[in-house]
Amino acid sequence: MSTMQKRYSLFDRTLRFVDREDEMDFLCEEFAPPRAEMSCGHAVTPMSLTNWCRRLLEEGKSKFVCGQPNCNKEWPYVEVRKMALLTPEEREYFESTMAQNAARDYFNSKTVSISLKMKYFSLLKPVSSNIVL
Ligand SMILES: [Zn+2]
Repeated sequence: MSTMQKRYSLFDRTLRFVDREDEMDFLCEEFAPPRAEMSCGHAVTPMSLTNWCRRLLEEGKSKFVCGQPNCNKEWPYVEVRKMALLTPEEREYFESTMAQNAARDYFNSKTVSISLKMKYFSLLKPVSSNIVL
């Protein structure tokens, strides 16, 4: 891991800079300002946002949501990519992990619905077959 910290350029006019605490810095790492506002209104630095989203991916999530309690707003990946200033390596990691997690979610939901159906059909089986077993 590189120790270089990513920082917003103050010349980037597409960002909304705020003079507030880094609201995604849950480990109190105190990343250097400037901080900018996400679409949900919470303040982040590229570092805190990267770390938070990486944690979500490691937890098996395929979507990015704000970590502030009572917010939980979903951020589109394009917003995360831009606001976290993802490097090419990070993009690759984020995109492949997102895809893996999404595929697993999809597979799990299919498995659940199939096993529910099997349960339903097993209830329709004649009672006598159960007695033999
Ligand atoms: Zn938020």
